[in-house]
Amino acid sequence: MAAIGRFQKGDDIFHAKIVDGELYRLQGDVFGSPSYDKKPVSLKGVKTLVPVTPSKIIAVGLNYADHARESGKPLPKEPLFWLKATTSLIPDGAKIEVPFPTHRTDFEAELAIVIGRRVRNVTPAAAARYIFGYTAAQDISDRTIQNSESQWARCKSFDTFTPVGPYVETKIDPHDLTIQLFQNGQLRQNSNTSQLIFNCFALVSFISINMTLLPGDLILTGTPSGVGHIESGDRLEVRIQGLAPLVNTVK
Ligand code: MG
Repeated sequence: MAAIGRFQKGDDIFHAKIVDGELYRLQGDVFGSPSYDKKPVSLKGVKTLVPVTPSKIIAVGLNYADHARESGKPLPKEPLFWLKATTSLIPDGAKIEVPFPTHRTDFEAELAIVIGRRVRNVTPAAAARYIFGYTAAQDISDRTIQNSESQWARCKSFDTFTPVGPYVETKIDPHDLTIQLFQNGQLRQNSNTSQLIFNCFALVSFISINMTLLPGDLILTGTPSGVGHIESGDRLEVRIQGLAPLVNTVK
């Protein structure tokens, strides 16, 4: 396990490695060859931030067969993706806000890829070299808007619609991990990343043919079946095997 997070203490924003609940401050470029302080940071007044600051968030749709079925949509022949606004990001512990309470707004638990090196036109076989690590995410979706439009940027880009974190795990095989979502303690989504139609390396390759990916960019890899609507006061927890849980509540 090598979990890296981004934190704030007063005006100071920094990356750190998390070991047994202690933070060891990172020195240098998080995507380069950083070193770490030997002594942990005092945890007093430390806030957890979104672990990276991406130039773009790419979200992949219908990438688990069972979710495509429940959506009533055919399986895509190539990865289907769109951009989410970076201003929709919130960290672990922050509140999701529902902009239109009369609309159906859904949770979607997803494994997110974090890019580590600038990459363009890479093959699936070489893609792993450009990946920094993996984190948990949600692709909150206003389904009422989604079902009325063919473009999905608007329904998925409201502020607070992309919870990500809490940390990035840099040493993990992404392709055999249980992925679960608990709503108020009840298991709602339960699958494994082995069920991805287009795996992480295929996605990085396909997207890199279309656009240059930069360090920190996020790719949300799609959600399994079991999506459901969220209500004010809900506690939503994404649990992905080998990653720290991502917990958010609904305002
Ligand atoms: Mg999604």
